[in-house]
Amino acid sequence: MRRNGFIGDTDTDTERITNAVSSKAGIYLHIPFCIRKCPYCDFYSTSNLSQASAFVDALIAEIRMEGNSGAWGAVEFDSVYIGGGTPTVMDTRAVLRIMGALYETFSISDAAEITIEANPATLSKDQLAALRKGGINRINIGIQSFDDANLSFLGRIHTGKDAVKALQLAGKGGFDNIGIDLMYGLPGQTPENWQKDLETAVSYGPAHISCYMLTFEPGTVMDNARKAGQFKVPGDRVQASLFLATARMLVQNGYDHYEISNFAKSAGLRSLHNAGYWNNRPYLGLGPAAHSYAPPVRKANVRSVRRYIGRMEGGKSPVESSEILDIRQQMMEAVYLGLRKADGIGYVEFNRRFQTDFCDMFEAVIDRLAKKKYLVADADKCRLTLEGMLLQESIAGEFIQVFS
Ligand code: SF4
Repeated sequence: MRRNGFIGDTDTDTERITNAVSSKAGIYLHIPFCIRKCPYCDFYSTSNLSQASAFVDALIAEIRMEGNSGAWGAVEFDSVYIGGGTPTVMDTRAVLRIMGALYETFSISDAAEITIEANPATLSKDQLAALRKGGINRINIGIQSFDDANLSFLGRIHTGKDAVKALQLAGKGGFDNIGIDLMYGLPGQTPENWQKDLETAVSYGPAHISCYMLTFEPGTVMDNARKAGQFKVPGDRVQASLFLATARMLVQNGYDHYEISNFAKSAGLRSLHNAGYWNNRPYLGLGPAAHSYAPPVRKANVRSVRRYIGRMEGGKSPVESSEILDIRQQMMEAVYLGLRKADGIGYVEFNRRFQTDFCDMFEAVIDRLAKKKYLVADADKCRLTLEGMLLQESIAGEFIQVFS
């Protein structure tokens, strides 16, 4: 979760957090190391692993600092997401040390979903078995494609064969809740090529499949190559057909299309942690570049391992910026994120939270979009159709215009 435009004074925010956070929440740990930077990626990470040991001490210091603040004392955490970066490049004992500090410091429910992100080229059977034994019960593998030409274009460090091996190793290591990420909309990618990736994925029966359209984030190596004309990006029509084909194919194979980019083998296998983001639940982010959200306050940590370690060694807060979301901003987020979900925006929850009437407020927009078959207004919720999901950004914009 990356956001811009933070303002405000972090000391005064702590008091607000103490008042605001009183329910269930998730923890996100940002492990900022990768073997090599992928050219399309703008997540904060570095390939300088020499700082890994000092980073682990710093992360544990931040865990203790947050624990001592008491801000999250009333919260039960029911999800932990170890992301990055590539957490599986870390020594497994270090990962388990971090988890130990979390359990000592916070109230984490017995049935919590504990996910680790993994790159297929960084896994071994013993490592996976140790992570599983250490309480990590879900793994999300960044496969992206099973096709070596696609993987080469994406600058990934693994091959299609590595991806298959990673899936098999995760199963042998004791993981039965395995998620994978795939990417589509690559230059030159044909519908047949993408279909083959989907078929291969489905043949291994992962519990969860995330399918992301390749995006070109400003400042990335890949975006610069695109601007320099080194390749041609598929047009809107091709991208739309790939999205629709993805949804149809995975649903036909029994997957629950519960969010624009996410599919679960059953409702119980949806990503609880990511659902927390879409449902505006609080989350505590730890590590460099991690964000936290305790309504109405959002905070961001420093985006540098070196500065992060420096702050923690000096006993200082790693928070670099924060903002207090006013009710209008919170409503806009609830609409934007709610429209991403197949379950859409529930009226009761929205009206209770914002002391308003969703249907009255957006009546004209809802009617207009329903007539175009982009949206369905059920008795209890408002949700996008598959065609509407294709236009989610601009549809959310139409809702948000109501506020201006
Ligand atoms: S492995 Fe993941 S986090 Fe690391 S650079 Fe590649 S896409 Fe980004």
